[in-house]
Amino acid sequence: MLSVADIMNLDSHIHSCYSGDSRSKPKNIINQAIFIGLDIIAISDHNTTKGSKIAIAEAKSKNIIVVPSIEISSSQGHIIGFGVDVDIPKGLTPDDTIDKIYDNGGIPIIPHPFSFYRNGLFSSLSPFELNIEAIEVKNARYIFGYSNYKSRSLARKKNLAEIGASDSHFIDSIGDSYTEIRDIDSDPTIDNIIDAIRFKKTIAKGKKTSNFLIAKEVFNKKFNRTY
Ligand SMILES: [Zn+2]
Ligand SMILES: [Zn+2]
Repeated sequence: MLSVADIMNLDSHIHSCYSGDSRSKPKNIINQAIFIGLDIIAISDHNTTKGSKIAIAEAKSKNIIVVPSIEISSSQGHIIGFGVDVDIPKGLTPDDTIDKIYDNGGIPIIPHPFSFYRNGLFSSLSPFELNIEAIEVKNARYIFGYSNYKSRSLARKKNLAEIGASDSHFIDSIGDSYTEIRDIDSDPTIDNIIDAIRFKKTIAKGKKTSNFLIAKEVFNKKFNRTY
């Protein structure tokens, strides 16, 4: 019989020091995630699963689930391959990137979809042209929140799973936004978690990351941009 945990908290979009734009070590990310009460996390680094794999190995003896993941720079914007444990190349079309995510057992999540200054996919492409099931409607890194607002309207219109995520580049901002997953097995597999998203058992929650941390990250990026 399935034992059902009422709610699990997921942060599906955290960057590690393997991402080119963060200094957070996988071990410290895991410790912080446990400390603040997250149950499931994914390291979604730019175009590499290295940090994700290290975090998965690191979490084996710990009370948290780490889902393999990657944030891929497609030719028209960023796409997260949630559940993917191979390096899907950057620069493919959005359609090809999404096909490869499904081929590798994952589910695409479109991060910050309307944020044109951060390679949001829907600042250059109509969302109605793509086969998608889930988008971030609450990305914690924003100034005014208009792109999150547009994203939520789209999710409601297109009946998509609503995801909250921190897009954290610092330990302190992990879990600022996150996704509550409801009616999930208390000891879920990666496939159970993907299915919960697919069946839209998600609620996007949380708050905005402080302007101080966002400014600090923009400053760091000027020196260290590799994606
Ligand atoms: Zn991104
Ligand atoms: Zn990101």
